[in-house]
Amino acid sequence: MPGLLSFEELKTCVAEGTIDTVLACFVDMQVRLMGKRFHAANFSEASFKETHCCNYLLATDLVMATPDGYAATSWEQGYGDYIMAPDLSTIRPLPWLEGTVMVLCDILDHHTHAPVPHDPRAMLKRQVARLKDLGFDAMMATELEFFLFEKSFDEIRKGGYRDLAPISGMNEDYSILQTSREEHVMRPIRNHLYAAGLPIENSKGEAETGQEELNIRYTDALACADHHAIAKHAVKEIAWQQGHAASFLPKWRADKVGSSSHVHQSLWREGRPAFYDADADYGMSQLMQHYMAGLIAYAPDYTFFLAPYVNSYKRFAKGTFAPTKTVWSIDNRTAGFRLCGEGTKGVRVECRIGGSDLNPYLAQAAMLAAGIKGIEDEMPLAPPTKGDVYEDSKAADIPQTLRAATDRLRTSTFLREAMDDAVIDHYTRCAEWEQEEFDRAVTDWEIARGFERA
Ligand code: ADP
Repeated sequence: MPGLLSFEELKTCVAEGTIDTVLACFVDMQVRLMGKRFHAANFSEASFKETHCCNYLLATDLVMATPDGYAATSWEQGYGDYIMAPDLSTIRPLPWLEGTVMVLCDILDHHTHAPVPHDPRAMLKRQVARLKDLGFDAMMATELEFFLFEKSFDEIRKGGYRDLAPISGMNEDYSILQTSREEHVMRPIRNHLYAAGLPIENSKGEAETGQEELNIRYTDALACADHHAIAKHAVKEIAWQQGHAASFLPKWRADKVGSSSHVHQSLWREGRPAFYDADADYGMSQLMQHYMAGLIAYAPDYTFFLAPYVNSYKRFAKGTFAPTKTVWSIDNRTAGFRLCGEGTKGVRVECRIGGSDLNPYLAQAAMLAAGIKGIEDEMPLAPPTKGDVYEDSKAADIPQTLRAATDRLRTSTFLREAMDDAVIDHYTRCAEWEQEEFDRAVTDWEIARGFERA
C-alpha cells in the first residue's frame, strides 16, 4: 500500500533525519485519536513495543468526564493503566504535519496483556474473525460527511458557538463552482490523505450550505475503520490549518439537513464477491439475502452504534435523505438500507442510518454481527419496499431517541451473544451517561420558549 511504512523504513527515515515525531494513537469510543507524540528516536529504539495510557480513556465522554457506573474502571479501582501496543503494520506519514508519522495501537490489559474487549478496534477484529470462521471477508466503505465553517473552532468557541456561518452560502450538492472556492481546504485533505496511504476516491459538495463529502475506496473492514478515523482527524486538523472549523455534529441547525456516514458492505470469499449470483433477482446471492435480513431485523438493537448522542436522533427526519425506517429498497435514498450495484459483481448494501458521528469500528462490528446472525439463522429477506419509504406506515421505525436506542441495546440478546455481556453493559452505560448529562442541561430552547411565557 503506498504511503504505509515498514518499521525498517521508519528506522531509516529516523536515521536520515526526515522523520522526528511518531504519534502513537488509539481510537477511543468517540472516534478520537488519543495518544502521545514520541521523539522518533525513542519510539524506534524503545517504545515501539508498548506504551501506556490511563484506562479512563475508554470510559470517558466528549468532554473528558469520569462517569460512574463502568465495571471496567472507576475511581474505586484507581483508574489504572492500559497498554497501548503499536500495530507496526499501520505506520504512515501524516504529510500535513512536518516530519511526522503515526501508528495505530491496540489496547491491552495492563496485567494480563489480553485485548481489552470494549476497545472499538478489538470489537471489530472479533466480528471480522467470526466472519472469517464462516469463510468470508467483509469489504466496507464509509462515507464521511461534514460541514466547513467560515471561522475556526477557537473563534467559534470564544463566541459561545453562536453565529455559525458555513463556508458557503448555497446548497453545494455536486457543485463544481462552489467546491472550487473550497479547494484550499479540500485539495490538501485529498492529497495528504492519499499520501498517507488512504485510497481517496473523491470529495464532493453535499446538499447543504458548506456541506462536504469525502469518499474512500472500499477495503477490508478493519482498514476501512482505520481510514475513517484517520480521515476524520485529518479533516479537522487540515481545516484548522486553513483557519476553518470542520464539524461532524450530525445536526447543527434544525432547519438544515444533517450529516451522515453511509456504510457500504459486501462479503467476499477467497477474493471473489460472495454477494453476487448472476442468476438471482437483482444479482443478490442467497448469502447476501440472509446477511441483509439480519442487518434489517436487528437494526433497532444496534442503532446506538450508528447514532451515539442525543443530537444524532435530530437527523432522522422526513424529506432530508436521512432515513426513519429499517427496510430495504433498490437505489432509493428514502430507506434505511439501499441496494447498490444490483445485477453486477459490485452488488452491495448501503446502510444509510448512521450519522457523521458514528464510530466506524463499532458500527461495522455491530452490522457484521447482525449479518452473521442472519446467515447463521438463514433468515429470509422480505421483498424490497418501493416509493417514498418515509410514508410507509407498515415499515418498522428506527428508534427515534437515544433513550429508545439505549433500551434496545441494553436488552438485546443477539448483541449480548455476539459481543458479550460486559461489552454491551459498558456501551449501555456510555449511552445512559450521555442521556443523563443531557437531562441535567438547561438548553437555549427552553430559555427562549419559557423565560417570559412560562
Ligand atoms: P455513489 O455513486 O453512490 O457515490 P460509488 O460507486 O462511488 O457510489 O460507491 C460508493 C462507495 O461504495 C465507494 O466508497 C466505494 O468504494 C464503495 N464500494 C464500491 N463497491 C463496493 C463493494 N463491492 N463493497 C463495498 N463497498 C463498495
